[in-house]
Amino acid sequence: MDLFDKCSRLTKPREAQLAGCYPFFVPVGSSSGPEVTIDGRSVVMLGSNNYLGLTQHPHVVGAARDALDRYGTGCTGSRLLNGTIELHLELERRLAAYMQKEAALVFTTGFQVNLGVISALVGRSDILILDRADHASIVDGARLAFGKTVRYPHNDMVALERILETHAGSHGLLVVVDGVFSMEGDLANLPEIVRLARQYGARVMVDDAHGVGVMGPGGRGTAEHFGLQHEVDLIMGTFSKSFASTGGYIAGSEEVVYFIKHIARAFLFSAAIPPASAAAALGALDVMESEPGLRDRLWANARRMKGELDRLGFDTGASTTPIIPIVVGDEYRLAFLWRKIFDSGVFVNAAVAPAVEANRALMRTSYMATHDDVHLDRALSVFERAGKEFGLIG
Ligand code: PMP
Repeated sequence: MDLFDKCSRLTKPREAQLAGCYPFFVPVGSSSGPEVTIDGRSVVMLGSNNYLGLTQHPHVVGAARDALDRYGTGCTGSRLLNGTIELHLELERRLAAYMQKEAALVFTTGFQVNLGVISALVGRSDILILDRADHASIVDGARLAFGKTVRYPHNDMVALERILETHAGSHGLLVVVDGVFSMEGDLANLPEIVRLARQYGARVMVDDAHGVGVMGPGGRGTAEHFGLQHEVDLIMGTFSKSFASTGGYIAGSEEVVYFIKHIARAFLFSAAIPPASAAAALGALDVMESEPGLRDRLWANARRMKGELDRLGFDTGASTTPIIPIVVGDEYRLAFLWRKIFDSGVFVNAAVAPAVEANRALMRTSYMATHDDVHLDRALSVFERAGKEFGLIG
């Protein structure tokens, strides 16, 4: 048996490519705004996590440019050794203050935050408790942790309580959930999770990659939305969405963040986030704090689209955020529908297993503060036509 045999058995993506309906790795020619150029055509972008539209904000771009001039292109080493620059510390101070936590630690990607934090905290005698719909980076963090992992069906609080009851007392317990679930845009039931965690002596970590900048009166995320900013022990965020950059962070108590800083291998053994990326995130934080109107515009767009898509009869699941799925079901049907919509000038994300459950393939649409009514009208008429043709709506 040859190790590489499995590679020739991966046929599905090639079939989609041959059929001309391969929705992945589509190269965007210019812009990361609400409208992008693909193959020389202008396309409305409904597949981006650039919720506040900050990737092209003059203050954010200027901050990245200044950092490039001052520090050069890279840090060429791990934060532990030579790779820490003053900008990292300023960013961590600002994030801690914004998140209303004692401390924050910046990693090179959000994925690494979950790998590093979970594997550092969940030791041999501890139990990690996950929602089945948690992001892949949490699942991989679990794989690296020495403790046992138990998963409960999505947002099933009865099942969560059963798990907590079984393990309370003799183990350290950590519950990790997405604040905003990344594919279907629904929320974790944080009030109940926090209540149960208190009752059974568990700690709670929220991955708020899609929540920070979007949720809560101050944009601090899902915990703030529920009035639980101080009750959630650890909040993870990424810079690859509202922060218009790349990188990630964990925010929590000084003692726990200090521990993570000295133990998390995905932090210690990877080069530091580049200066321009850190500066862009800091610039984005400035804008989040100074221009709350952007969040209002994002929400106006999201509410309008949710209302219109529901009115047209699409299945948009339990979304209550600017991530709105259009459930299709079968993967092949999704691929052909995606192509139809793309050819009509709208880009959406095709989500298939393992990102979603098998037979729940969906078009993941997401909205930005910078979409205007012309973009949204165009998208709605394309969805309506394609939805009727593919029998998703009457
Ligand atoms: N958690 C969630 C919920 C995410 O959606 C993502 C990014 N897709 C990550 C973590 C990883 O973040 P990053 O892109 O910064 O690696």
